Amino acid sequence: MSASREVDVVVIGAGQGGLSTGFHLARLGFDRETGFVVLDGDDGPGGAWRHRWPSLTVGTTHRVHDLPGLHFPGEGEQPAAEAVPAYFAEYERRFDLPVHRPVRVTAVRRNGAGFLVETSDGDWSARAVVNATGTWTRPFVPRYPGQETFRGRQLHTVDYRSAREFAGQSVVVVGGGASAVQLLGEISEVADTTWVTRRPPRWREEPFAEEAGREAVARVAAAVREGRSPGSVVGATGLVVTPWIREARERGVLERLPVFDRITPDGVAWDDGRSVRADAILWATGFRAAVAHLAPLRLRASGGAIPVEGTQVIGEPLLHLVGYGPTASTIGANRGGRAAAVDLARRLLPRRAAA
Ligand SMILES: Cc1cc2nc3c(=O)[nH]c(=O)nc-3n(C[C@H](O)[C@H](O)[C@H](O)COP(=O)(O)OP(=O)(O)OC[C@H]3O[C@@H](n4cnc5c(N)ncnc54)[C@H](O)[C@@H]3O)c2cc1C
Repeated sequence: MSASREVDVVVIGAGQGGLSTGFHLARLGFDRETGFVVLDGDDGPGGAWRHRWPSLTVGTTHRVHDLPGLHFPGEGEQPAAEAVPAYFAEYERRFDLPVHRPVRVTAVRRNGAGFLVETSDGDWSARAVVNATGTWTRPFVPRYPGQETFRGRQLHTVDYRSAREFAGQSVVVVGGGASAVQLLGEISEVADTTWVTRRPPRWREEPFAEEAGREAVARVAAAVREGRSPGSVVGATGLVVTPWIREARERGVLERLPVFDRITPDGVAWDDGRSVRADAILWATGFRAAVAHLAPLRLRASGGAIPVEGTQVIGEPLLHLVGYGPTASTIGANRGGRAAAVDLARRLLPRRAAA
């Protein structure tokens, strides 16, 4: 096997978090060859946005924040899965970011005072690692009794392409997040839908205020500092009632039921005797952090999560998680990338680096 290539910082992932980190590392003086690389497992630019369902338009996202230094020109009816990858491609080119792809990181191990990063395309040794791998590659589906007996189709949000696939069917949508609500709105136009959530939804009639946003981020930050799971974003923010959500509510599509107790061959059933026949169960039940490749470092706390202070793994000054916990949003990933780069510049570059 060939010797590993050496670099100061390996950034894993070229989504919003990895690109923001790369921008700031370059700005602060890390060399584009010997200073840092960005390793991305995908075939092309765009991070998870490349894989979003075609009907998710720029206008129906909450908001894709500009990466530092370049305005996101996408708007309205453009599919997010086209507009964001085009923007990221231009970003990588404009700032000459050293993105290598497709390169999948399979393991990160300790290597003296630094790290050995094992990939599908050979090894890298690095003084520091910034992990920005998002969540899209780790969809989460909870387990319910009888699940394996269901004769219909089960799919997760990541598998969803178009409501047309469900025309004339009966579909159970599971999950209380923004994706569940959006997919219900679409599917209910061509199919019978049933919505189930663990807790009653908290609707927010006015847009999310900045202060409430800060408080939500602070709550998530406190949880991950202690190694607890950050919980769901919607739990912290509520579901903002957009005009089309109001329209779906008026159609009665957003009447929710508690989650069923079991799955039967033909549908779902509750212990109180109710049942619903289903051709498909759509699990809009979220994601977990895609960090399996960090397992050799044994970072997880007993609460199940990796404890971080901001982006820095507690007790690991040269390892940052961007797009994780309090920085898991496009604006958070911007902030996290900057914080990680500034910190690593201070630690690794000769004195001149500044914020
Ligand atoms: C349906 C949906 C809609 C959303 N809408 C919004 C919104 O409107 N506004 C907002 O702020 N946030 C939104 N979010 C959240 C937002 O998308 C993310 O927080 C943010 O884009 C994530 O950026 P990221 O860089 O952390 O991850 P990603 O965009 O997921 O990028 C991670 C990259 O890492 C790569 N990768 C993963 N594992 C490896 C590995 N082992 N080796 C190498 N590369 C790897 C992937 O291939 C990918 O390119 C949404 C999320 C979802 C699911």
